[in-house]
Amino acid sequence: MWHTGRMKEARFESSSEVVRWLQGEATGLWPALLGSLSFRRSPCVRANCAACMSGEQHSSYVLYGRLNGRRVAVYVPEELVPEVRRGLDNGHALQELLQQAAPRYVKALKRERAKAPKSKKS
Ligand SMILES: [Zn+2]
Repeated sequence: MWHTGRMKEARFESSSEVVRWLQGEATGLWPALLGSLSFRRSPCVRANCAACMSGEQHSSYVLYGRLNGRRVAVYVPEELVPEVRRGLDNGHALQELLQQAAPRYVKALKRERAKAPKSKKS
């Protein structure tokens, strides 16, 4: 008897149950993105720009990420910010999930190994 799926985890689950759990949890986490979204204010190139002269400047969002091993910065229009944020939140959730999956999977593999009949050669 357990109240949540979590209670089941430690002692009894099989490695294929861990995989199923992981796939199930990950289903709702797409798109999953990694990177960092920064807000910044910067001046523009126009002469006598009111926003720049008032010190207000121009706000923009930039996504920092990696592409083929290189750090890249991509401008993010304001209306896309919520969507990008959701993807980044999903990315963190997925990372968290993978962290949890590793010990559970290894423990399950070890239990299965202990239960399996020993092969004649070893
Ligand atoms: Zn300006």
